[in-house]
Amino acid sequence: METIAAISTGITNSGISIIRVSGPDAISVVDQIFYGKDKKSLCEKKTHTIHYGFLKEQDEIIDEVLVSIMRAPHTYTAEDVVEINCHGGSLVTRKVLCAVLSHGARLAEPGEFTKRAFLNGRIDLSRAEAVMEVIKAKSDLALKSSLSQLSGHVLENIRTMREEILRSTAKIEAALDDPEHISLDGFSEELGLQVEQIHKKLLRLIQSAENGRLLKEGIHTVILGKPNVGKSSLMNLFAGAQRAIVTEIAGTTRDTIEESVRLSDISLVLIDTAGIRDTEDFVEKIGVARAKDAAQNADLILYLVDATVGIDEEDKKVLEELTDKKVLLVFNKIDLCKEKEENLTGACQSLEGEHSVASIYEKPCQSLEGEHSVASISEKFSQGLERKYPLFPISAKTEEGISALSNTIRELFFQKELSDQDEFYLAGERQKQALLEADEALLRVLESLEKQMPEDFLSIDLLAGYESLGKITGESVDEDLINTIFREFCMGK
Ligand code: GDP
Repeated sequence: METIAAISTGITNSGISIIRVSGPDAISVVDQIFYGKDKKSLCEKKTHTIHYGFLKEQDEIIDEVLVSIMRAPHTYTAEDVVEINCHGGSLVTRKVLCAVLSHGARLAEPGEFTKRAFLNGRIDLSRAEAVMEVIKAKSDLALKSSLSQLSGHVLENIRTMREEILRSTAKIEAALDDPEHISLDGFSEELGLQVEQIHKKLLRLIQSAENGRLLKEGIHTVILGKPNVGKSSLMNLFAGAQRAIVTEIAGTTRDTIEESVRLSDISLVLIDTAGIRDTEDFVEKIGVARAKDAAQNADLILYLVDATVGIDEEDKKVLEELTDKKVLLVFNKIDLCKEKEENLTGACQSLEGEHSVASIYEKPCQSLEGEHSVASISEKFSQGLERKYPLFPISAKTEEGISALSNTIRELFFQKELSDQDEFYLAGERQKQALLEADEALLRVLESLEKQMPEDFLSIDLLAGYESLGKITGESVDEDLINTIFREFCMGK
């Protein structure tokens, strides 16, 4: 086994950098260039100890360093590992790496440290992939979820399912081999119940994998609305920076701007479309086409309306085009509605008294129930529109109503799963495919049971499901696939 090395921290100027070396010669490679105060060889040092000294090559000092010695098997890769903490400049970091490479280590391929951890049996494939997610995590929740996956929660779940499937298959096979002694009487019902339960578990995992995508990549959110309603202002507020140019001239935002932002613990990819122009042919030519275009790949649409102006026929036409999408109707600039009740009621003509937008605005949205709920008010408001839209009065200027809006976005996508983080599953496309394949196989089992097909059919599909699930934990994947997966990892991990 070769000894590998790579820079494990980002290659930018920073306080410190870490160069990781792993393999049978890790300690002796570093020992050749390390000079500690006590002049002892690193090979004599105890495991899991840290040593201060200098790295030198041909009597020239490369850097002042701290070197950690960790012997197999209790290390990240389960091999001997040395980590060199050097100063963080990119030049010095590269010099340290070059010195290590010129003394017998070779440059690690992307993901090779984690691949070794997997090949040495220290982690399963779902955990290896979770390491990747930890690196890429964009939001706290995504990070928490990948960390929970690292602790092997998914693995446990899938192992249990595989075990159950295997046990049933074994029973069928045994009965087919030895029908005189092993009977399958009544087994169909038992198997049906078991497969049904696994199918439900798989569906949950698949759903949670979809949530995982939203967590990992962010909720693709398009802000739509006519010019000057405050789209750029809202985007800037979310982004916490003057990213889009805000002016009072209608139609300033010309290009689509994308920004990845964190909203409490979830992440949004905000797409600010060029303001829909209020020209004569707004609806026919620009508005609808652009709205549809922008909305095509969006997970969520925030449709902004100026609360002092209200919604009009043009807005309604655009809204009606946004079928099959999650749309929140956002009434902006409520700070300008001095007489909130009056102006907002004016803006949303059909709403009055307790059901008025102003009354939702006065109370936090969450506390409203029944007739006073956002849903029921939105329903009244949306009269004349085919769909009902939840409505949010906000001010991008004073930030009123923003937290209610973010809470709703969170609930809209993650519902109660948020409180049960173990259910989150940051699956890559490969894992999702394997889950779907497994589920299809199990559905075939249910079908065969219903049609009272011969037992061989059952065991073929059960085994197919078993194999597919094994792809997630890495217990039934071929060598090539393992290589491809690990190549996706970044250098130094
Ligand atoms: P866009 O064309 O939809 O992107 O609108 P902008 O974000 O450029 O905003 C247009 C104008 O409305 C700017 O002068 C903003 O300062 C102003 N504006 C935006 N949101 C609010 C708000 O909540 N309250 C007030 N008073 N003004 C706002």
